[in-house]
Amino acid sequence: MDLYEYQAKDLFAAHGVPVLPGAVAETPEQARAEAEKIGGTVVVKAQVKTGGRGKAGGVKLAEGPDEARAKAEAILGMDIKGHTVHRVLVTEASDIAEEYYFSFLLDRANRTFLAMASAEGGVEIEQLATERPEALARVPISPLAGVDRDKALEILRQGNFPAEVLDEAADVVVKLWETFVAEDASLVEVNPLVRDPRNRIIALDGKVTLDDNAAFRQEAHAALVDKAAEDPLEAKAKAKDLNYVKLDGQVGIIGNGAGLVMSTLDVVAYAGEKHGGVRPANFLDIGGGASAEVMAAGLDVILHDPAVRSVFVNVFGGITACDAVATGIVEALKILGDEASKPLVVRLDGNNVEEGRRILAEANHPLVTVVDTMDNAADKAAELAAAGA
Ligand code: GDP
Ligand code: MN
Repeated sequence: MDLYEYQAKDLFAAHGVPVLPGAVAETPEQARAEAEKIGGTVVVKAQVKTGGRGKAGGVKLAEGPDEARAKAEAILGMDIKGHTVHRVLVTEASDIAEEYYFSFLLDRANRTFLAMASAEGGVEIEQLATERPEALARVPISPLAGVDRDKALEILRQGNFPAEVLDEAADVVVKLWETFVAEDASLVEVNPLVRDPRNRIIALDGKVTLDDNAAFRQEAHAALVDKAAEDPLEAKAKAKDLNYVKLDGQVGIIGNGAGLVMSTLDVVAYAGEKHGGVRPANFLDIGGGASAEVMAAGLDVILHDPAVRSVFVNVFGGITACDAVATGIVEALKILGDEASKPLVVRLDGNNVEEGRRILAEANHPLVTVVDTMDNAADKAAELAAAGA
């Protein structure tokens, strides 16, 4: 889960990383009130989960409450890279002497954690990494050793941080590492990390990605979920305990077992190339159970995706035998009634496959086509999706 800047900064503050006081506002009037509380010059910042807000006009300085109100009015409702601004952060403005870049992240390719640091911050990191890669230090971090003061100094020196800020910046880096570990983050990024004219080091921006796999031991993180911005289908699937991920294609996919579903995505994408480039519309693993209720819940989610034009149900009968799954599909279609309106291609194999196919043949549902092999079924589902365009 990606956090908003204001949420990231709340976590920073909780771990002692210096941030400036501020509060989030949903209306221009609230922004005015917050600016009044803070006093002096404030910054009004669009809260959207994308970078480059500054360039897009989503970050504005305001002299006092009235200007803060006007700036908030201009920023609220703005579209930044496809994200509508529903909230602004009103925060004390800082004078900036220098802008730096700092991040900790999970480096999947190298199976380690990584610190990235540069005295040339403020600009987008992708730009810095391509244009001046030598200015961006990349230092692997052992999860066992972590980051103490010495390690922090080593990273900062490699990032060419000026000598006069090393002491204070190292302190901040250690606290950012504490944040990264304590919150089970996979990314903690500060761009810019600034030095103000009094040589204080402050996190002026914050980007944090939390590892959802750690949600079970991070109860407080549940409150950080932005329910309003959640994909409604993903929210519905989560409520029913389904492992569902929305993708951008047209063929709905249901399977049992993550590995089988992953392979199904591949064969559908491959088959889709012959049918005008149709692609999988989602990942959905209904797990080992595959009861009628679970099948109905899965079909319910997928059939309500307006992008879906056909559905491929790909089940390998193991612990749950094919006849139970076939009954599940038939019962699910009964439960859904008229809501089931798109063609279903079903491929069953494994335990009790003959009986499973017999049940489906007997039900003779007008939307269901049974195909014996995975490749042929993928082809049929792709063909139906292309025809339904
Ligand atoms: P981003 O564009 O989405 O990364 O948003 P940032 O929070 O990084 O803000 C963009 C830029 O606005 C920063 O790089 C700063 O140059 C500027 N900025 C943000 N906050 C302040 C502030 O308090 N004072 C000043 N002077 N500039 C700020
Ligand atoms: Mn930034």
